[in-house]
Amino acid sequence: MGGLSTPPKPPALGRAPGDPGRGSRPDSFTAPELFDTHAHLHVADFAGDLADVLARARAAGVREMLTVGTDVETSRAAIALAEREPDVWAAVGVHPHDAAAAGAAVLAEIAHLARHPRVLAVGEIGLDYFRNLSPRDDQQRTFTRLLRLARDVAKPVVIHCRDAHDDVLRLLAEERAGEVGGVMHCFSGTADIARRALDLGLVISIAGPVTYPNARALPDVVRLVPDDRLVVETDCPYLPPQPWRGKRNEPAYVAATAARVAELRGEPLETLAARTSATARRVLGLARVAGHRDGGGRSDAGGAGTPP
Ligand SMILES: [Zn+2]
Ligand SMILES: [Zn+2]
Repeated sequence: MGGLSTPPKPPALGRAPGDPGRGSRPDSFTAPELFDTHAHLHVADFAGDLADVLARARAAGVREMLTVGTDVETSRAAIALAEREPDVWAAVGVHPHDAAAAGAAVLAEIAHLARHPRVLAVGEIGLDYFRNLSPRDDQQRTFTRLLRLARDVAKPVVIHCRDAHDDVLRLLAEERAGEVGGVMHCFSGTADIARRALDLGLVISIAGPVTYPNARALPDVVRLVPDDRLVVETDCPYLPPQPWRGKRNEPAYVAATAARVAELRGEPLETLAARTSATARRVLGLARVAGHRDGGGRSDAGGAGTPP
């Protein structure tokens, strides 16, 4: 999460990245299959035009989105949205910024919400030593409790980590987060940190900053992550890809991030998009969700290639 307020109207997506532009009718549509693994669609920034935002996402090929809570109120809002929109799923958690306020009642409510069938993950949770909006011991206490919750409910974690990699990786290991798996969201660390997160059983999620001229270590990270351990996200309304910097981000723009990741890895966007989407579904346990897509034809719970 960031701090944009009253953003300007986003530019029209005349031609989505990855859309060859040969036509805009659905029957000639060749957009890649994308999964935005981290969005905040339930926040006020989208209150005025969410239907349009979702329509642009679908038109850009975004098949599924995970909308991520940061406290009790936004976690409830995320679930409410996921109950209305079949391609939007929810995650519930307490952001490290809000950790100081996470007493027993808050943690009990998150534990209740985490069991909702539209909730795929516990998050976002983690540590943020860049802004330090909550004291570090509160952050670590809340993070630890919610890592335990994820194991209790057998759902993966969505990890926020800023300037706190050593403590995040230590707590992930101590709390055996690899047993449920999860996503290092908006990854901002070095190649070495990425390797350590991968070793713990997590996947790496790349957001808009990979498109920035000063992407620092991200190009190296993007190239080193194994094929089936990489996903993409927007973190909207924050952190838009380069063409929309300073504006409100939205799920349709994940296509620009995916295009840059594909370019860095030297592979076609369609291939990268389909594989990152499959990875997202695997990590988030969608193969095990009854009634998911097309009326619930999936019977391959924990099927081929799916870790326990
Ligand atoms: Zn976020
Ligand atoms: Zn975050």
